[in-house]
Amino acid sequence: MIVLTADWIFPGKGEPLKNGFLEITDDGRIIRLTQERPTADGDEKVQVLHGIICPGLINCHCHLELSHMKGKIPEATGLPGFLKEVVKTRKAEEEDILLAMEDADREMWKNGMIAVGDISNTPASIPVKQQSLIRYHTFVEVFDLSPFRAVEVLKNGLKTERVFREAGLSASVSPHATYSVSEKLMQLLGESFSGREIPLTIHNQETPAEDEMFLKGTGTLLGFLREAAPDYEDWKATGKSALQSWIPRFPSWARTLLVHNTYSSQDDIRRAQSYCSHPWWCFCPNANRFIENKLPDIPAFIKEGASITLGTDSYASNHALSLLEEMKTIQEAWPSVSTWQILEWATGNGATFLGLTHELGSFTHGRRPGINLIQLADNNRPELKGSSLSRLF
Ligand SMILES: [Zn+2]
Repeated sequence: MIVLTADWIFPGKGEPLKNGFLEITDDGRIIRLTQERPTADGDEKVQVLHGIICPGLINCHCHLELSHMKGKIPEATGLPGFLKEVVKTRKAEEEDILLAMEDADREMWKNGMIAVGDISNTPASIPVKQQSLIRYHTFVEVFDLSPFRAVEVLKNGLKTERVFREAGLSASVSPHATYSVSEKLMQLLGESFSGREIPLTIHNQETPAEDEMFLKGTGTLLGFLREAAPDYEDWKATGKSALQSWIPRFPSWARTLLVHNTYSSQDDIRRAQSYCSHPWWCFCPNANRFIENKLPDIPAFIKEGASITLGTDSYASNHALSLLEEMKTIQEAWPSVSTWQILEWATGNGATFLGLTHELGSFTHGRRPGINLIQLADNNRPELKGSSLSRLF
């Protein structure tokens, strides 16, 4: 048995234990978390650490498949410019893509992650995920605007989902974004979800041009899409924001994660919260800065009682795959958001959304949720600025 103590132990939700004790087995399985100093086995086994001990982090939004694009995409182009660059740069040798995915996976492990919700378009990441120490849930992404192809597109998506499942990996089909899925495809997706306890995710309101195409039928995103796919020629504005246009098409009962939300208004948040039975929101602030040089209005989500998770997005739009860096960016922008609140998003909440609370996201007896130490710049103040992370288990 090992006993760890630190200035704070954050159990995955709520308040931390100040100078608490975490008893674990030699391989990091939780025995108990307690405020009292264990006496039975003597003091020599207590490891005194400084900073915050927390469970393994949960990254709810990544694209392993884009890892080879590290450092290749220019910053602050806006989403339409970013998508153009991704299309241009995405193609690469299979071997290079695989090696980059392996590096990204190792980096995420080193950065304290225990589970990742990963968007995939192909089965290419299967060998990396099978060998990884990280638990992956793969969202097999589908998109297509033509209602006539919806059956075929969903069939292909479900086929890829099955390939992941047959490889022993958890997976579910998910729509790409508000602007890239037909009503028909959305309806079929909803039907395919019926009776299955699986999570769903979608990119939402990442750029002002996304709302513009729904509100007015104009803008740079629609321009880019029209160049890329003839189906957008007939695009009809709805007069509502992207989120409000899309929400009524959605299976309201599904456990749904809206990702980015950089331009979501208070009204958008309220509508989604009242329409969806299980709405979840994911922020990838450093990726939003990279693409749009803008952060979502996180305090507005907190005000609405939103269930929040965090993600890193991919190396196409981020300099690092580090949830600690994402957390620092949030606290730097809004110092009133406490470290405990942000850590709950990155641990307990991520586990709840991905359906992994029976194993991960908390220091509960018998589990192996991963254990991290966040070393603080000042041990008297639990602030993330200047902190670093080391993985203990
Ligand atoms: Zn993404």
